[in-house]
Amino acid sequence: MASAYLIKPHLHRTYPIVQYGKGIYLYDTDGKKYIDGCSGAVTANLGHGVQEIINAMNKQAKKVAFVYRSQFTSEAAEALAEKLNKHISRHTHYWTFLVNSGSEATETAMKIAIQYWQEQGINGKNKILSRWLSYHGITLGALSMSGHPTRRVRFVPLLEEFPSVSPPYCYRCPYHCTYPSCRLRCADELEEAIIRIGAEHIAAFIAEPIVGAAGAAITPPDEYYKRIRNICDRHNILFIADEVMTGLGRTGKMFALEHWNVEADIVTLGKGLGAGYTPIAATLASERVMEPILYGSGVVMSGHTLSANPLSAATALAVLEFIEKHQLVQNANKIGGYLFEQLRSLQASFGWIGDIRGKGLLIGMEFVHPKTKEMIPSSLAFTDMVVTIAQKNGLLVYPSASGNGKDGAAIIIAPPLTMNQEEAAEFVDLLTRSFVEIDHDLP
Ligand code: PLP
Repeated sequence: MASAYLIKPHLHRTYPIVQYGKGIYLYDTDGKKYIDGCSGAVTANLGHGVQEIINAMNKQAKKVAFVYRSQFTSEAAEALAEKLNKHISRHTHYWTFLVNSGSEATETAMKIAIQYWQEQGINGKNKILSRWLSYHGITLGALSMSGHPTRRVRFVPLLEEFPSVSPPYCYRCPYHCTYPSCRLRCADELEEAIIRIGAEHIAAFIAEPIVGAAGAAITPPDEYYKRIRNICDRHNILFIADEVMTGLGRTGKMFALEHWNVEADIVTLGKGLGAGYTPIAATLASERVMEPILYGSGVVMSGHTLSANPLSAATALAVLEFIEKHQLVQNANKIGGYLFEQLRSLQASFGWIGDIRGKGLLIGMEFVHPKTKEMIPSSLAFTDMVVTIAQKNGLLVYPSASGNGKDGAAIIIAPPLTMNQEEAAEFVDLLTRSFVEIDHDLP
């Protein structure tokens, strides 16, 4: 039964009540079946009801579910940090700071970056540069870094003016250029911003390797991150990769930055770390970043009551073991390749599919005016229509921003990394049926 007193995202909408989930499917209390084509919010990366994870949670809950991190550490949290360190880099060690949401992870990243400079006696480097069409979280610090106009607008007076650089958005290049003749003008904009603001004021630059909620899987040209890394190094600025959405196999690599052979100084993880089984997120800081803190105050000034609780840590550890054992990174590549091919073939039938982009099982679809290819005005609520019709047909897709962040229509397709070939074909079939219906409904 629905409660009148539970605040839901849209207070005037009716939401189905979920009953249970199994694999890539969810079932509501009316018995309706849905393909979870976006893993919720790109989170349920293993699908639903996975017995190995439930067993691991049970086992840990029976031992001890919670200890306060200032009093105890736990075997689970220690093992999780070891495993993350093993996966992230062959060149340097990364230390793990556990938190409970992606927003907390990016807030912590911001604080560690500022603290890194302070511990060396440099107190003026307090700004974090970021890009427009980005999302790093809903808390005020994370929102300050986020170039997501609709999520910022009510709180702008409370926010720092952080976003300052254009995204590498080739489909709608901010400079109206084409790659490669653009010579990565958008990356060079970071250098211009640093010079304008002054490197002595800037602690770090933060970016999502592939843009999520704010840009429907905007994927940069190949040399982009090498250039960014280089600019950060030349100007003595840390590089933070927000891998909350892209991390842990989603894009067909364990970490999305691996696609471009680049390493960040600080990396954030969330969503897929607990895979929806538990709230857990992490900020990983490289040896270089940790050293001055280790030999300085010895304290990372962040944290929450539930940080590093053993139950969540054991769950995340089981999630990582499951990813390894079932080779889900490879599967994301394989099924992602199939989906890309199938979705691209839909472009011939539906002229309003403008761009299909992304990597692995993080796929963005931007919708456009079929004749002019202009962005679709927000007043048409086109994304809403796509999401609603798909859901009516038993398919969940994730609404995303695109265009200029206000106008523009797009979705993200990001099924669980466990999806098999047959399920992927069923997904394509349901999406095609939904698109046929939308075609009829177009103004
Ligand atoms: N960073 C990225 C890249 C995200 O996609 C999100 C959420 O969508 C966040 C941070 C914030 O995570 P959370 O909603 O868990 O606070």
